[in-house]
Amino acid sequence: MINKTYEEIIALEADRQNHNVELIASENFPSQRVLSAAGSILTNKYAEGYPGKRYYGGCEFIDMIESKAIEDLCKLFSCNYANVQPHCGSSANQAVYRALIHPGDTVMGMDLGAGGHLTHGHKMSFSGQDYNIVSYGVDENGIIDLKEFKEKLYESKPQMVIVGASSYSQIIDYKEINDILEEYVKETGEKKPYYMVDMAHVAGLIAGGVHPSPFPYADVVTSTTHKTLRGPRGGIILTNSEDIIKKINKAVFPGIQGGPLEHIICAKGICFEEALKPEFKEYAEQIVKNAKAFSEGFLEEGWKIISGGTQNHMFVLDVYESIGVTGKETEEELDKIHITCNKNQIPNDPLPPLKSSGVRIGTPAMTTKGWKEDDFRKLSKVIIDYLKEVKEGTQEAVREDYIEKVEKIINDVKAR
Ligand code: PLP
Repeated sequence: MINKTYEEIIALEADRQNHNVELIASENFPSQRVLSAAGSILTNKYAEGYPGKRYYGGCEFIDMIESKAIEDLCKLFSCNYANVQPHCGSSANQAVYRALIHPGDTVMGMDLGAGGHLTHGHKMSFSGQDYNIVSYGVDENGIIDLKEFKEKLYESKPQMVIVGASSYSQIIDYKEINDILEEYVKETGEKKPYYMVDMAHVAGLIAGGVHPSPFPYADVVTSTTHKTLRGPRGGIILTNSEDIIKKINKAVFPGIQGGPLEHIICAKGICFEEALKPEFKEYAEQIVKNAKAFSEGFLEEGWKIISGGTQNHMFVLDVYESIGVTGKETEEELDKIHITCNKNQIPNDPLPPLKSSGVRIGTPAMTTKGWKEDDFRKLSKVIIDYLKEVKEGTQEAVREDYIEKVEKIINDVKAR
């Protein structure tokens, strides 16, 4: 029995978000404009269908909102067509499978343990259950293994290839993958597989111009809107092909969804509009600078980062090899000093998923709160020193000091 009102619980969560250092790589703090739209009266409206072709009356303003969001999104990523209705990133991915290929078809996706997402073929997801999945991974340096990718491509002759990741800290060269696919077609005479890019994690970096775009190479691109893009929780699908967008639109509605969440679509539109502004470019640049500085703090102490460092918004720290503390313990212990992160499997992890050798650490959320390189450097020192105490089993005696150290960094940033 929960003896609190919903409002009281929201206030508690707001307080937690205010007092904790948020390092979960897939979280962010959207603007008040985004939050207001997401909590607006637009939630009252049913609008099954698409602008101009709805199954309900009274949609003239809803149509304006959805059309404007599509326009802004296409402008942001320089593409021709978009669907802004997927309720989340997983639904966006599911819609692509259903639109372009058939159950039983072969799909190549990045292995979850190597950094991929559940919907890229994990056996517990619809993707691994309904399709024949051929997974590719990373080499011994933690970099996408293109040799293995090519071998599996030629061997399995997939109908679709998915590129993109949830925990991979290097830049993915979308053109290079496209060149491999084109060479495969030339050499084998096989049909080119659909080339799908899931840019959920790096969408904000691409929008801000600090990472390369999957266009014009990918046939279809999916994303979430709530990670580096700093919008409401949701999914999107983009393409340059009229034929593909027709199939995608049918797959989203009525294929897998009913009425669209127009309050969220409006909030998505606001986030696209915000990402088109010059300030967002600065934000995206700062995210990457912060992640580099943060990772260097660990590397200088000889700690291990998968792939040796980061070129984006996150990195996976191998805490088990670095100091002999598991990812689970790290997540729990850092939480006690008001730092939030998540345990993460490393490639070929010797520990099971619920323990994990790594933690995934990201900078988008605290960059939104104004953190700069020096703040992250200070935090790396706090984390290193505290985890050394954890390793020695002496952390309880010093915990309060560490909470104060974390609070000091937070308050120093707020005071600037
Ligand atoms: N794709 C990638 C690469 C992700 O990292 C995620 C979320 O973690 C998703 C898709 C799924 O997004 P959602 O949680 O909104 O379903």
